[in-house]
Amino acid sequence: MFARMRFIALFALLAMCCMGALADAGGKQTVEVGLYYGSTAPQSVVVSGVGAGQAERSKGAFDGEVRVTAGSDGLILEHKEKRASLGRWVEFWPTGDHPWLNLNDVTYRGRLRVELQRRHRMSVVNMVEIEDYVRGVVANEMFADGAACKVQAVISRTFAIYVREVERKHRSDGFDICTTGHCQVYGGVDSERPLVEEAVGATRGEMVTYRGGPIFAAYHANAGGLTQHVDEAWPGSVRKNFPYLQPVESPYDAAAGGLRGYDWCYHWRREITGKEIGDRLRAWGRDVGDATELLVKEKTATGRVRQLEIVGTRGHTRLRRPSEVRAALHTPSSRLEIRGTRSGFEVIGWGRGHGVGLSQHGALGMSKAGYTYEQILGHFYRGVALTSDYGRGRSRPLTPPEVNMGIAETRPVDVPPGRS
Ligand SMILES: [Zn+2]
Repeated sequence: MFARMRFIALFALLAMCCMGALADAGGKQTVEVGLYYGSTAPQSVVVSGVGAGQAERSKGAFDGEVRVTAGSDGLILEHKEKRASLGRWVEFWPTGDHPWLNLNDVTYRGRLRVELQRRHRMSVVNMVEIEDYVRGVVANEMFADGAACKVQAVISRTFAIYVREVERKHRSDGFDICTTGHCQVYGGVDSERPLVEEAVGATRGEMVTYRGGPIFAAYHANAGGLTQHVDEAWPGSVRKNFPYLQPVESPYDAAAGGLRGYDWCYHWRREITGKEIGDRLRAWGRDVGDATELLVKEKTATGRVRQLEIVGTRGHTRLRRPSEVRAALHTPSSRLEIRGTRSGFEVIGWGRGHGVGLSQHGALGMSKAGYTYEQILGHFYRGVALTSDYGRGRSRPLTPPEVNMGIAETRPVDVPPGRS
């Protein structure tokens, strides 16, 4: 009955009397996903569907489109040519036949919380049950293959719980996890697929644990045959001393050679000019002119370039992290070799991404070769367990399987422009 009434009327008439609608969770695992925040936050959004809402000063129901705009001292709601003032925040949830609402034409399960930020901007957070969150991630992060999808479901769930409870890197932004490659790519209901449904359902509540807690489930596109030690990837960061993130061979990375659009990810080649490198360094405030010499000063134990001296026409500088080397040369990974050419440099390398933890192409190759998702997880993360019920249930150790270490002979493929 509440849902049948017009949103605007209720928002205007009812004073907010309790916060009951917000408490909830009821023991369920939820994750707060930041859809809009910071400098890219919009000034107004459109929420549509059949739902109800609770604002700082009122509550109500709606059917159709609701526009929320950030005013100078509060959010303003517009519905069917009527306006109401909401205060600093409003939260919407679905009450109709579908368990979701649309936000600017993207469909999300769970609740949407809009909050006023400074300077006429708003943040929007999707408060969603963690299984529903994982359903909206897997297809964006992994290829469609049975065990590979289960692997991705478990690590996406583990990663979200780790970020929410341990790393808390977005807490100061007002949520747990963002929707881009910075955390994990989440697309809501539009990203759900039948094979993903099956993978998420079959692994419901399962997460990878080390000594009882969620692991930092680092993953990347392709290790180029050998994963990287966590302490060598991000020297000086808080991400260290994780004994489960140690180098392992990943022979199935070569399988990327057969993936359309990703064939360059395993073994690649790129040509780069001294001017391109110089321009990139200049943008970072380190002007050395055009690069004339690239001197590898130090490699990590797995062959990634850690220290690179760049000599230019106006000076020189030294890069001291694999991630910096990758960014300066604009290469898919830092596992590379450099050769001077007449017009600049030829760089030949292996893999794509930081190389720590699970290689997604390697996992796909193992999945296609018949390994189970538990075996694949046990191969890339060492000394860990798979624990049910979000770490509260039964644990079983994940032991690495025997893996055929023969790597296929491949020739480097040119990296397409703009891809690295
Ligand atoms: Zn993030």
